[in-house]
Amino acid sequence: MGQTLTEKILDDHLVEGELETGEEIGIEIDQVLTQDTTGTLVWLQFEALDMDEVQTEVAAQYCDHQTYQFDFKNTDDHRFLRSAAGTFGAHYSRPGNGICHNVHKENFAAPGKTMLGSDSHTPTPGGLGELAIGSGGLDVAVAMGGGPYYIEMPEIVSVRLEGELPDWATAKDVILEMLRRFSVKGGVGKIFEYTGPGVETLTVPERTTITNMGTELGATTSIFPTDEETKDWLSRLGREDEYAELKPDDDAEYDDEIVIDLSDLEPLIAKPSMPDNVVPVREVAGEKVDQVILGSCTNGGYEDILPAAKMLEGRTIDRKTDLIVAPGSKQASEMLAREGWVAEMMAAGVNFSEATCGACIGIGHVPASDSVSLRTFNRNFEGRSGIEDDSVYLCSPEVATAAALKGEIVDPRDLADELGDMDAPGIEIGEKYGTSADDPDLIAPDEAVDDDLIKGPNIGDVPLKDELESELAGPALLKMQDNITTDHIIPATQDILMYRSNIPKLSEFTLSRVDDSFAQRALDADGGFLVAGENYGQGSSREHAALCPMFLGVEGVLAQSFARIHKANLFNFGLLPLEIDADDYEKIEQGDDIEVVDDVSEAVRSGQEEFTVRVNNDWELTATLDASERERRILADGGKLSHTKKQAESG
Ligand code: SF4
Repeated sequence: MGQTLTEKILDDHLVEGELETGEEIGIEIDQVLTQDTTGTLVWLQFEALDMDEVQTEVAAQYCDHQTYQFDFKNTDDHRFLRSAAGTFGAHYSRPGNGICHNVHKENFAAPGKTMLGSDSHTPTPGGLGELAIGSGGLDVAVAMGGGPYYIEMPEIVSVRLEGELPDWATAKDVILEMLRRFSVKGGVGKIFEYTGPGVETLTVPERTTITNMGTELGATTSIFPTDEETKDWLSRLGREDEYAELKPDDDAEYDDEIVIDLSDLEPLIAKPSMPDNVVPVREVAGEKVDQVILGSCTNGGYEDILPAAKMLEGRTIDRKTDLIVAPGSKQASEMLAREGWVAEMMAAGVNFSEATCGACIGIGHVPASDSVSLRTFNRNFEGRSGIEDDSVYLCSPEVATAAALKGEIVDPRDLADELGDMDAPGIEIGEKYGTSADDPDLIAPDEAVDDDLIKGPNIGDVPLKDELESELAGPALLKMQDNITTDHIIPATQDILMYRSNIPKLSEFTLSRVDDSFAQRALDADGGFLVAGENYGQGSSREHAALCPMFLGVEGVLAQSFARIHKANLFNFGLLPLEIDADDYEKIEQGDDIEVVDDVSEAVRSGQEEFTVRVNNDWELTATLDASERERRILADGGKLSHTKKQAESG
C-alpha cells in the first residue's frame, strides 16, 4: 500500500513507534520556532534542563506579539530573548520584523522538514510541504535540545480540491467553508492533507492561509504537496535550492476524504464570536462597520495585501470606518512600499501599522464599545480584541476592503456593480528584495551580539512541581461551559502579557475573565479541581494556561473533552486531566467536594484508565485518563521538567 505525504515525512523522521492511527510516535524535529510571549519560558526551561546548545537544524526566536514595549518589562523580555538566542545558538528576529509564521515561512520553512513551534499557528508552512506542529513551550525546549517530539498518530484526512476559485472567492473562503462544515472541533486528532486537481490552482500564499487556519478546526496540522508553484515561490525568495518535490503515492489510503469544489465557493464570513460561525457574506450585507483591519499571520503577506491595495487605488474609504493595515512581516511592508502601494493605501485613508500581532490579541486598535470590526485574522473569540462583548467578523482581505469602502458589510461582487471598474484583483506573487544574509532584522547565530543570558528584574524562575500524590481531594474551584479557550484561562492582553516570565504575578490573572476571584480562591483552597465541558483549552499553545493553575495549587481538570495542545500542557505541568461524561458534568456544582478515590500516583503509573471520583461524599462518577505510558510517567513525576531532570540524574 502506498503512503500519504504525511506518512512519508513522518517515516523519514520516526524514532519511536509505528505509524498506526492512535499509537504514540516519537519524531525527530528539524526546525523549531518560538515567539516572545511563549519564548521566555522556553529558554528558561532550556536553561533549567541544563542544555547548552541548540541541536536542531534551525531554531528561531521571533518578537511579534508584544512589540510596542509599553514599559521595561516587555523590553527586558526581548533583551533576554536576544541574549538566549545568542547564547544557545538560535536566529533572533527583532521586534517589528514581523509575525513568527510569516517571517519563518519567508526565511526557513522548507518542503519535507518537520517543525515544532510554541504557537498554535505553527502549521502555517504546511502550505509549502513542511510538517509543522504547534506544541507547548516545554516540548519545544526538549526538541531544541535534540529530544524527540511525541504525539498520538493522528488520522490522515484527504481534502480533495476540485475546480478553480471563481472571482472574489479566495483561499480564506476555502478554510471558512471547512469551518462551516466541520466546526472548531472538526479537526481534533486529524491531519488534513490537501489533494486533488484544485491544489495546483492555488499559490503558496493561498495555501498557507488555509494551513494557518487549520488550527481553528483543532487539527494537528495541515499540509499541501509541492509543485511548480512551490518551486517558483521559493525561487522568488532566493531559496530554490531548498525545493523538493513531495506528493502522496497514487495508491495512498486515507482515513477519510472530504471533497471541496472550489468553483462552488463564494465570499464567506465568520460572525461573532467563533471562527466556525460562518455564513455567506450576502446574508449579513448592510451591517454597518466601524473598523476594518487587514493583516495577521493568516492574511498578512504581500500577496494578501496587494489585492486590497489595488481595490483602494484611486478611491477613499468611508468616513465612518477606520481601515488599519498591519502587514505580517517587514518584508511585506518593504515590498509594498518600494512599489508605491503604501502611499496609494495611505492616500485612500489607511492607517499603516508596523508588522506585529498587535490587534489580534487586543494590543492596539481595540474596537470602540458596541461597535463592529471586520478583520482578516483567524480568531474572533469573545474579548480577544481587547474589549468584552466585542463584535468581530473574520473574512478575506477583499471582503474587508469592500466593507471599508462602503462603510458596511457588502458582498464584493455587488460592490463591483456599484463602483464600476472593480475587477477581482486576484493574487500576484511578489519578488523579495534582498536576502536573509543581509537582513538587519534577522540576526543569525554566528552574528549574535550576546553570549550570556541577560535577565531583568521581571524575569523569574520556572516553578517545579512535586511528584503526584497518592491522595487527591479538594473543591470544584470553578465550573465552566464548553469551548473554554486559553484566552479565558490566561488572557493575552497587553497589561497581562508583560508578566509571561513572572509566573507568581501572571497567576493572579488566571481565569479572571470567567471569575475574577478565582486566583485568590484557588490559593486559599490550596488544592482543588477545575470542571469544564467540551473542548477545554482550545485556542493558543500557551503553556501558561497549565502552568499558572499549577502554581495556584490546582490538582486536576475534570472535562468532557480537551483540546490537544492544552492536554499535553496539562501533562507537562503535572495536572491530572480526567474526562467525564455529560450527565456527570451536569450534576457537579461549583464548590462541591471532589475526591479521587484511587491511589492516584499508583494508578497513573500502572496504566489504570478508569478512576472513581467521589462528589460531596455522596455520589460517585467514573472518570477516564486517556494517556500514553510516557505521559503517565511525566504526570507521576510532577511534570515534564521534573521528569526530564530525573531522567538525566538517573543517567
Ligand atoms: Fe499573532 Fe494572531 Fe497569528 Fe497568533 S493568531 S501568531 S496572535 S497574528
